[in-house]
Amino acid sequence: MRKVLIAGNWKMHKTAAEAEALATAIRDSITASSVPAEVVIAPPFTALDRVSRVVKGSPVALAGQTMHAEDKGAFTGEISPAMLLDLGCTHVILGHSERRQLFGETDEGVMKKARVAIDRGLVPILCIGETLDEREASRTFEVVGRQLEAALRRLTPDEAASAVIAYEPVWAIGTGRTATPEQAQEVHAFIRREIARSHGDAVAGAIRILYGGSVKPDNAAALLAQADVDGALVGGACLEADSFLKIVRAGA
Ligand code: PEP
Repeated sequence: MRKVLIAGNWKMHKTAAEAEALATAIRDSITASSVPAEVVIAPPFTALDRVSRVVKGSPVALAGQTMHAEDKGAFTGEISPAMLLDLGCTHVILGHSERRQLFGETDEGVMKKARVAIDRGLVPILCIGETLDEREASRTFEVVGRQLEAALRRLTPDEAASAVIAYEPVWAIGTGRTATPEQAQEVHAFIRREIARSHGDAVAGAIRILYGGSVKPDNAAALLAQADVDGALVGGACLEADSFLKIVRAGA
């Protein structure tokens, strides 16, 4: 039985003080009435230290929004796996479409970072998804299949089973245009079949596949009800405690 995972990607939002307040609200609500879902939040790097102190010892886990593949070195502006671990992160988002589209992240880079994340003990949340042009050209499965294959290529079956996949159609991110539950399920089922082919049935049965792309309190339950949707990666709706917590509870 796969445990539902709800992750919030705060992107470049919230000062450290604002982040501390949001994390406190999320922590308090989740601790007050235990939720069956696993909850991960990914604040900006500048807030990780303060948020880490807030969630320490609580069921809320912390993620980096990206990372470099090296532990240290002359990489201006980057953050290393060692630094994320030092700040209390247990997870790291890799290959987000904004990283791919705006910052030149490649399949090759995601492949390398996934390996490093596992080596360092961070759970990689591996983002894959097609653009609108690719969907309209009927290339969804080709693109998603290629990104998935690269992300998992260097992982053994056990390692792959511990990773998390986030299917995020680029056309649904931050646009208010959500994939229908059926569209999400279709691609999630494809992803699980591909993982069965590459890493075996046990891995395909264990690995969690999140949906991301304009998940909101009013559409979360229908998406999470799909057989192969094991959680959500939430952007805009995770910036307010109330809407994020509604999505967390929709997974119950
Ligand atoms: C995201 O950026 O991962 C995301 C899913 O954003 P939004 O929920 O705002 O579409």
